[in-house]
Amino acid sequence: MKILLNNNDLNEALYKASNLGFVPTMGGLHKGHISLIKRSLKECKKTIVSIFVNPTQFNDKNDYKRYPRNNKKDISILKRLNVDFIYLPTVNEIYLHKRITKIKLNKKDRILCAKHRKGHFEGVIDVMDRLTKLIRPKKIFMGEKDFQQLYLVKKFLKKKHLSKIIVCKTIRDKNKLALSSRNFLLNKTNLLKASRIIEELIQFKKKNNQNNNINHILTLKKKELSKFYNVKIEYLELRNMNSFKLSNKFQNSKIFIAFYLNRIRLIDNI
Ligand code: AMP
Repeated sequence: MKILLNNNDLNEALYKASNLGFVPTMGGLHKGHISLIKRSLKECKKTIVSIFVNPTQFNDKNDYKRYPRNNKKDISILKRLNVDFIYLPTVNEIYLHKRITKIKLNKKDRILCAKHRKGHFEGVIDVMDRLTKLIRPKKIFMGEKDFQQLYLVKKFLKKKHLSKIIVCKTIRDKNKLALSSRNFLLNKTNLLKASRIIEELIQFKKKNNQNNNINHILTLKKKELSKFYNVKIEYLELRNMNSFKLSNKFQNSKIFIAFYLNRIRLIDNI
C-alpha cells in the first residue's frame, strides 16, 4: 500500500494504473466506507481511497473544525483492507488552481440539503471534479446514504469525465441507524434517539405504503417527532428518486430527512 501525500506522488503512482477504482472519503472510516472499498477491490484492478475533509463544502466553520479526523486509525483500516493507494492531499494542493467557470445549481435542484446548506453541493461538486481530474479513475464508488449528493455529482461529472459512478447501498447498524462519521460525535442517548427516529420512519413507510397523501401525513409526523424526541428536524419530505419532485405516494419515492441532535446534523433517506 502506498500513501500519496501530494500530486507528484499521485502522478508517479498512477502513471500506469488501469482499471482504477476510486473511493472518495472525508475519513472517519466506518463500515459504510468499507463496503464501498470492498466493492472497488472486487471490481477493479487497483483501488485508491482519498481522505480529504473538504473545507469548501462546509457552510458552518464549527462543523468543519469539529468533523472527526483520525488519519492514524483510518490508515490502519486501509492497510488491513489491502487497498493499493491512499491519497491524503492538502487543501492548498487541491485548490492550487482557481475555477474558470463557477459551479451553479439549477433552481429546481436547490431543495433539501441544497436549500439548507448554502454552497454545500457547489463545494462537493468542485472537489469531486478536481479529484476526478487528478485521479482519472475508471469507476468511482459512492453511497446511497448521500442520495442528493450522488444525484448532483453524477449529473455534473457525466458532462465532463469518463469515470462511471457506482452506487452502493447504505450500511446501517443493528438499530437501523445509517453509519456516518458524524455518529462518532454523538453520545449514547443521542445515538439511540437517532436510531428511534429512523425506526419510526421505517415503520411509517410500512404502514402508509398504500396511502396517497403522504406529504400531508409527513408534515404531521414531523411535528410529532420533533416534539416527542425534542429534536430540530430541518426537513422531512417524500420525493421522487429520479426527478426529486415532491411526491405523494411511495412508488419510486423516498423519505428524506435532516435533523439535529446536539448541534450534530444527520441525514438519511428511507
Ligand atoms: P464521507 O466520508 O461521509 O464523505 O463519505 C464518503 C462516501 O461514503 C460517500 O460516497 C458516502 O455516501 C459513503 N457513505 C457514507 N456513509 C455510508 C453508509 N452508511 N453506507 C454506505 N455508504 C456510505
